[in-house]
Amino acid sequence: TIGAIGYAAYDIYNKRHPFEQKSFDPTKRTIVLLGTGWGAISFLKKLNTDDYNVVGINVKRFLSVLADVVISPRNYFLFTPLLPSCTVGTIELRSIMEPIRFITRHKSRNVKFFESECTDIDPESKTISITDVSDIKGAVSNSTIPYDYLVVAIGADNQTFGMAGVREYACFLKEIWDAQKIRTRLMDCVESAGFASQPPEEVNRLLHMVVVGGGPTGVEYAAELHDFLKDDLELWYPELADKLKITLVEALPNVLPMFSSQLIQYTERTFKQNKIEVMTKTMVKEVADKEIKVLKANNEMVTIPYGLLVWATGNCPRPLARKLMARIKEGQTSPRGLLIDDYMRVVGAQDMYAIGDCAFSRYAPTAQVATQQGKYLANIFESLARIEEGQNKKIAPFEYTHQGSLAYIGSDKAVADLPFLNGNVSVGGVATYVFWRSVYISYMFSFRNKFLVLGDWTKSKVFGRDVSR
Ligand code: FAD
Ligand code: MG
Ligand code: MG
Ligand code: MG
Repeated sequence: TIGAIGYAAYDIYNKRHPFEQKSFDPTKRTIVLLGTGWGAISFLKKLNTDDYNVVGINVKRFLSVLADVVISPRNYFLFTPLLPSCTVGTIELRSIMEPIRFITRHKSRNVKFFESECTDIDPESKTISITDVSDIKGAVSNSTIPYDYLVVAIGADNQTFGMAGVREYACFLKEIWDAQKIRTRLMDCVESAGFASQPPEEVNRLLHMVVVGGGPTGVEYAAELHDFLKDDLELWYPELADKLKITLVEALPNVLPMFSSQLIQYTERTFKQNKIEVMTKTMVKEVADKEIKVLKANNEMVTIPYGLLVWATGNCPRPLARKLMARIKEGQTSPRGLLIDDYMRVVGAQDMYAIGDCAFSRYAPTAQVATQQGKYLANIFESLARIEEGQNKKIAPFEYTHQGSLAYIGSDKAVADLPFLNGNVSVGGVATYVFWRSVYISYMFSFRNKFLVLGDWTKSKVFGRDVSR
């Protein structure tokens, strides 16, 4: 019986190989989808490909999907909420990546996917320019693709406020390669600190981990780092463990501004117990290779030496989005992203839609928003196809449903603001942590990812985190 169930599951999972899919149909409209992130993948999963051709595009170091064509610089979907856990080896990177072909093979029509970066969008001629971003290039590395509909889901760039040194010396925490770099650098700091006859002040510098930005990413990263220190470094590097210091720098008066004041206090208390120094109302003014200069609320300039600097201060539009905003003649007036209407249409452009972090809407730049927008947009395309067949399929404007905010804060504790029932329920603690884990597992798109992540959690509980770099 188990064998039969297993085989059935395997069969369902592997259903629809490309040779069983419908092929490109010249009588159907072509959707070009830019990106393979939360917005693009939610859209693609929901889209009925009986009605459209899709081309997806994503750069190697990025990834986008063209509906009918998917275009992206990476050929996988990345489950960002668990990325902070990868920086210390609680979870392995491959466990939160899902190859784009695993997703496209479930569609009724074959989806063309190009791993490439979209470098320009021409709303007049309805074409996009793409470039091959791989190290090994074929005979052609640039191309132009026409679209009937364009879905822009390219996400956002890291905000640096134009500050010199950030891109050179700090680590971001957005993509796979960022987590890899942090993991390597962290262990490099630890091993160098333990090097024969290292002067004490250099040991202290190397073991000072500074996080800039007190949003969920910065907070979760500091929390993971703390757990790593407690659970693993104390065991493997006992002579260094008490010298490791974590500092979180935030310009606003408190961390996690989207949470209730009660949970903010709970987080700050937990951080205090965990000896994570939180410097609020503190602005970073200069970034150099071994130190940063910060301005405190009392106007005092302080120099902070660091070994590892993680920069998580939020989003700004990608260069491609800026270029597109400049090309659109009217209506793109926001410096914060592509302006869209309640139907995800890019203001001032024809047959162009934008979803997720690249679009500026009233909502926070979260996976939750991108997912709901992606699904909604698939419904829009469904209605467009039915209207073309003569049916009346009017669709209501997009409405966002907030399902709550969650953040891991270390020592097996998490905070959650949940709009359950009538009022908001705010909870924190160990039970929330179990809830946090199960929510994340349930939001993973594939059974394969769930299986791998559960395996990693078990592995790091049993054997400890992997400290090899
Ligand atoms: P992305 O998911 O960033 O996808 C953008 C895609 O476009 C990528 O595939 C990229 O490769 C591709 N692309 C970029 N430029 C180009 C180009 N020129 N040509 C082609 N393709 C391109 N949100 C939550 O709701 N809950 C959480 O717990 C949470 N945790 C997070 C933790 C971390 C560490 C981070 C970084 C983010 C987290 N978020 C969370 C936010 C969430 O990840 C984003 O809001 C979400 O990824 C936005 O989806 P998107 O599709 O707009 O962009
Ligand atoms: Mg996307
Ligand atoms: Mg993503
Ligand atoms: Mg987007």
